[in-house]
Amino acid sequence: MNFDLTDEQEQLRDAVRALGRRYGHDYFVAKARAGEHTTELWAEAGRLGYLGVNIPTEYGGGGGGITELAIVCEELAAAGCPLLLLVVSPAIAATVINRHGTEAQRKRFLPGFADGTLRVVFAITEPEAGSNFHRLGTVARRDGDDWLLSGRKCFISGVDEAQYVLVVARTEDATTGRLKPALFVVPSDAPGLTRSKLEMEIVSPENQFLLYLDDVRLPADALVGESVEAGLPALFAGLNPERITVAAMGAGTGRYAIERASTYTATRKVWGGRSIGSHQGVSHPLAHAAVQVELARLMIYKAATLYDAGRDLEAGVSANMAKYATGEAAALAVDTAVQVHGGAGMTTEYGVATLLGAVRAGRIAPVSREMILNYVAQHVLGQEKSY
Ligand SMILES: Cc1cc2nc3c(=O)[nH]c(=O)nc-3n(C[C@H](O)[C@H](O)[C@H](O)COP(=O)(O)OP(=O)(O)OC[C@H]3O[C@@H](n4cnc5c(N)ncnc54)[C@H](O)[C@@H]3O)c2cc1C
Repeated sequence: MNFDLTDEQEQLRDAVRALGRRYGHDYFVAKARAGEHTTELWAEAGRLGYLGVNIPTEYGGGGGGITELAIVCEELAAAGCPLLLLVVSPAIAATVINRHGTEAQRKRFLPGFADGTLRVVFAITEPEAGSNFHRLGTVARRDGDDWLLSGRKCFISGVDEAQYVLVVARTEDATTGRLKPALFVVPSDAPGLTRSKLEMEIVSPENQFLLYLDDVRLPADALVGESVEAGLPALFAGLNPERITVAAMGAGTGRYAIERASTYTATRKVWGGRSIGSHQGVSHPLAHAAVQVELARLMIYKAATLYDAGRDLEAGVSANMAKYATGEAAALAVDTAVQVHGGAGMTTEYGVATLLGAVRAGRIAPVSREMILNYVAQHVLGQEKSY
């Protein structure tokens, strides 16, 4: 058993940390408040190769895996810049296209993922279906060689920053008449695709949207893979990378909050010469949060290692557990960091309350804590499916 990163992974981690710190949480919040995006950070990370670490070298990427991408997600978040677009674009969309796209799709899209110039977001959630993906109502019909997509999606992150949306729709099986999932690469400016921004209580430069697809016409090669049969495996291919990288982002956010809090509590003095951190009522909750974040990190890197070793089923259990553990740990860490700051914790200046919305959302999205508990109860504990 080996808990060490390789030398290259350590170097990646140090380099991404340095980049993240050059921008920092103040930059992230200023962009969010101005309604702008973290374009400069994204572009620089792309130029340095950090956004394409998991893309094969023959398409211009770093040739690493989800472990490397998790390191990038964690370190940027630990510097106060949790970028959700890393989860949807390189983790989900690039993995789906790399693993289940045609060779023509790989050649067309992967070089852009490798240098970060291409951003593809992911649209599965629908207002009526919610957590129950079997109820997806977005339908793809054939019209000659073309496809026509109609339906509605909600909470879709980053559409305003992306050139394409990877849309999960359903096609009719010619023999059984049953609807089965298929994935389509839809240009974000396609005629018939409209969006409206959701007002969210999250301080983030990345936005969520409602999407309306009204007979969006797509060429045959917009379908991911050679045929609709690729749909289900392609959809599942994105799930583990999504859970692992979103967990890494949460762990980084937790580390950031604990670091800010411990710096504050070590120096703040209100009872004579002793720091407030010398009081165990202050230091123990912080230490407890640090333990929870570190435990979650162990599961993240276990999941990433299993995934990169091609052990998808075992990775699924660990990825779900990592997502669950990190969602809870990050929320605890940020809440504790706010508390030990006292009133300063609620100011923008101290840079912790700004993360409350994001870590709260991390217990709901991209998969809720309850749906993970359902998964663990069923697949690990052998309980009957409850829904
Ligand atoms: C910030 C943010 C960004 C997002 N980005 C994207 C994105 O880019 N792309 C995308 O497709 N989606 C995105 N989502 C959507 C997200 O994946 C969903 O919100 C999430 O999957 C939950 O679905 P829902 O909101 O419909 O909740 P619902 O399904 O309506 O669930 C409501 C509550 O009931 C619980 N619940 C539901 N079913 C069960 C059950 N069987 N057992 C126990 N409890 C249950 C849920 O856990 C939840 O607490 C985003 C959401 C947020 C908040």
